[in-house]
Amino acid sequence: MLSPGSTIGMLGAGQLGRMTALAAARLGYTVHVYAPDAAGSPCAQVAAAATCAAWDDRAALAAFAEAVDVVTLEWENIPVDTVEFLARTVPVRPGAGVLAVTQDRIAEKTFANGLGIATAPWRPAGGPDDVARARAEIGPRCIVKSTRFGYDGKGQAVVGPDTDPAAAWDSVGSQACIVEGFVDFACEVSVIVARRPDGAMAAFPTVENRHRSGILDRTVAPARVAPATAAEAERVARRLAEALGVVGLLAVEMFVTRDGHVLVNEMAPRPHNSGHWTMDACATSQFEQLVRAVCALPLGSTAVLMDAEMENLIGDDVARWASILAEPDARLHLYGKAEARPGRKMGHVTRVVPRRR
Ligand code: AMP
Repeated sequence: MLSPGSTIGMLGAGQLGRMTALAAARLGYTVHVYAPDAAGSPCAQVAAAATCAAWDDRAALAAFAEAVDVVTLEWENIPVDTVEFLARTVPVRPGAGVLAVTQDRIAEKTFANGLGIATAPWRPAGGPDDVARARAEIGPRCIVKSTRFGYDGKGQAVVGPDTDPAAAWDSVGSQACIVEGFVDFACEVSVIVARRPDGAMAAFPTVENRHRSGILDRTVAPARVAPATAAEAERVARRLAEALGVVGLLAVEMFVTRDGHVLVNEMAPRPHNSGHWTMDACATSQFEQLVRAVCALPLGSTAVLMDAEMENLIGDDVARWASILAEPDARLHLYGKAEARPGRKMGHVTRVVPRRR
């Protein structure tokens, strides 16, 4: 167990690191952030120390490893080599094996399917011919997704019956892909599970997510789905966290089919945008839970105190900050980013209401 006063190393310097650092500070821990873009970043603004260096800067990594007691991360695309290097000196939670699976859509879906967990039908694709073949096998409506570095709908193209496979391939950057069947889902849900080094787990309730242009727009907590569907989603997330051996958090995004079953879409071994509501409406926030998990503290209660709806403030949405502050039930969180570019997550607002049930 790492006692308060210890230092948590954070790989990645965005808003997820920032909110983790704030939660860590509340419990008496300090955060040292490491990222190539750490200077002036959302996380560095609130962290006790920052190292601004490349992911392969061995001297900087060695100094960072000496300065911290445990390392966690807020971005799953940290190079596996970086994590393996740090892990020679200091525990990295989650570890390199978890990242290797979650960085690559083929590895991720193979892993889930290997546990008997359902996903949309999918095929790997290395060129336009594979895209055409996959569409013939899966069905006329598909989505082509790059295997790596895809997030918020980036590196994706919808393929219909008349789409030229070569054009779809080009539009995702002519790189290794998967072709996935288009799911006519009833809704999208996610579950965030925390897991400690000794295997103890706690799951936040299943929440419902609505996306706009591939980016999370709103989260409704808890999800308005049948209890059996919510329970199935939680069971799937716990199974994945356990099988991956995650220490920290695992967020699992799923589609709910029209008949109430879940299909895994993506997983991320870090705090997740769909868990931001926990800061204002849950007994423990996802960020505090991450601190507890990586420091091997008792996990916190995931009891829901208030029903909540989280709205992301993307790009110019942030200009509404003053009117949001005037709403009595709104809790505003801004990330300290200077420039509101289109598609950039600038903050979020959680609106709380008394419990529905
Ligand atoms: P992803 O980057 O895979 O999370 O995709 C971003 C969003 O695109 C998802 O949250 C869905 O709203 C949509 N999407 C992704 N894959 C599919 C699919 N196979 N069928 C229908 N919608 C999808």
